[in-house]
Amino acid sequence: MSVDRVHELRELIAPLVVSPGRSVHLARDFDPAFYDGQVSKDGAAEALAWSIELLSDYQIRLAAQDHYGLLVVIQAIDAAGKDSTIKHVMSGVNPQGVDVHSFKVPSQHELDHDFLWRYQQALPERGKIAIFNRSHYEEVLVVRVHPELLVRQHLPPEAVEGDVWSRRYQQINRWEHYLVDNGIRVVKLFLNVSKGEQRRRFLDRIDDPTKHWKFSAADVAERAHWDAYQQAFEAMLSHTSTEWAPWHVIPADHKWFARLAAAAVITNELVRIDPQFPVLDDAARTAMAEARRGLQAEG
Ligand code: AMP
Ligand code: MG
Repeated sequence: MSVDRVHELRELIAPLVVSPGRSVHLARDFDPAFYDGQVSKDGAAEALAWSIELLSDYQIRLAAQDHYGLLVVIQAIDAAGKDSTIKHVMSGVNPQGVDVHSFKVPSQHELDHDFLWRYQQALPERGKIAIFNRSHYEEVLVVRVHPELLVRQHLPPEAVEGDVWSRRYQQINRWEHYLVDNGIRVVKLFLNVSKGEQRRRFLDRIDDPTKHWKFSAADVAERAHWDAYQQAFEAMLSHTSTEWAPWHVIPADHKWFARLAAAAVITNELVRIDPQFPVLDDAARTAMAEARRGLQAEG
């Protein structure tokens, strides 16, 4: 692997990271239409292909080494491109090495547990990548924008007293710290789309019969809460970007750049893990030598 190219990946990612402790104001700090002037659209396709190849290569080593798991968290407002990002970025990876979990409105059974329970069930095992298409962050996003959802969680009074959201941010940070300490690395991507681009994409879904299946009147109704969502995203980014699991704000108005940036962040984390093929111990080597002799004797 070329050191220069990994350096390129890191340069691409650097402006997207939310430094821990930084107070984020989305409209001021992150332009949804941003793209790296160094990469052209054609250059991006080539870089994406390279990044995907690298990702696939590292995924094999991650599985062989069997020490680390990788959790990729993707959050965004409707039509920001979560599904298509997952489809493109993971296109080169062995399907047996990746699980995608799409979190929907919680069931009664899920609501009867603590708020992190259902996410804990879906964590990657060692050697695997899990993608959370929506995640535990919904618990401080949609639930914050619609407080009636918190009422459905049947929390005891002391759990909803005072600043529930600050407590949840802290609980999420601690949970992620515990995961990273145990070898489950956490990569977090927020796809940042503009209100104008979301409008165009909704209209496109209405106008193109092959996209009708993606259209949801509920998503359009949710657009009325745009400002409340932006505030919830800002609070989430400001309070849950940590040294062990920082947020990346992926500019999402240009899909070609969003895909490249998402692939770069995930690939870079695998490069950081740098999983190695296991070295066999003496007993395993002896067994293998014996097996070879047996197989050769057959011929
Ligand atoms: P989609 O991703 O478009 O299939 O929609 C899934 C829906 O589930 C979205 O409207 C989310 O806001 C909602 N959802 C996901 N997680 C939660 C949660 N923890 N509490 C309430 N609603 C949720
Ligand atoms: Mg939806």
